[in-house]
Amino acid sequence: MKSSDIKTIAVIGAGQMGGGIAQVAATKGYSVVLSDASVDLARKGKDKIAKVLAKLVDKGKAKADEVEALLGRIAPHAMGEALDGADVVVEAATENLDVKVALFKAADAKMRPDAILASNTSSISITRLAGQTSRPDRVIGMHFMNPVALMKLVELVRGVQTSDETYGVIKELSEALGKTVITSKDQPGFVVNRMLVPFLNEACFALQEGLGTPEDIDQGARLGLNHPMGPLELADLIGLDTLLFIAEVLHREFGDDKYRPATLLRNLVAAGWYGRKVGRGFYVYDDKGQKVGRAFER
Ligand code: NAD
Repeated sequence: MKSSDIKTIAVIGAGQMGGGIAQVAATKGYSVVLSDASVDLARKGKDKIAKVLAKLVDKGKAKADEVEALLGRIAPHAMGEALDGADVVVEAATENLDVKVALFKAADAKMRPDAILASNTSSISITRLAGQTSRPDRVIGMHFMNPVALMKLVELVRGVQTSDETYGVIKELSEALGKTVITSKDQPGFVVNRMLVPFLNEACFALQEGLGTPEDIDQGARLGLNHPMGPLELADLIGLDTLLFIAEVLHREFGDDKYRPATLLRNLVAAGWYGRKVGRGFYVYDDKGQKVGRAFER
């Protein structure tokens, strides 16, 4: 397959990342099959994209007719439906090995034999996911950054069996989506999260130890390191459940205690305080996603 042959992209998982990938693909003219565990969840994902785009229209940053046409290119489905029509499938479901293993088996059985199966996983071995399929040479990591529409990078991850052809096609597709590509070996956390997750976890330790307030820690990174967001704000944006999962993968796979997740992070996840997507993490967020204060006092 050549990248110019790609017309239809199926995205599995209509959460914050899957929705973003669907939006960017539809913006660039691709037909998108957006699926989640149920068609209702997929519709909800599409509704969120419509809301984001309606705000851009209100601000004069997008045209109403173009947004309507773009939304017309996104078809919501239940997982498993309409995958046979896709040239590329991008899996962006919950960061959990069991979930992804089951999805890879199911998707592989429904997809055309020549189609490529990519995963947006932040930490799970691409070689391991490829091993669940009949097409390990056509499986690759395609790691978009959050928020997908704004962030320029896609990190490609080559599994042991990923073919040069698959890599070349997905590199060109990423560029056609307006992204710049870096390439990582298939090791825990790849390039970006190998650097980022220990930093965010260290900020959790700093808060847990009372080194500073959440505001001190975030302001320290914003003004002291010139980061656009503080690490606790960024952790809330990523999702504390996703962050903990990645931290656990780094800890387990490298067998090095320097990667052990902070107890505070574990506790917030146990409480269901996953960050922005549920309105509470280190901070509390209102219906519009605006930060309104701290979620807890030490
Ligand atoms: P999310 O929680 O916002 O969305 C996950 C979606 O997957 C949900 O809509 C859920 O219903 C769906 N899902 C769960 N099981 C499913 C199944 N069996 N079939 C179909 N859909 C199913 O999570 P997210 O932040 O969008 O993360 C998705 C993926 O993207 C993860 O692999 C994550 O590591 C990766 N990622 C996340 C970020 C980030 O900053 N959040 C950045 C890069 C990559």
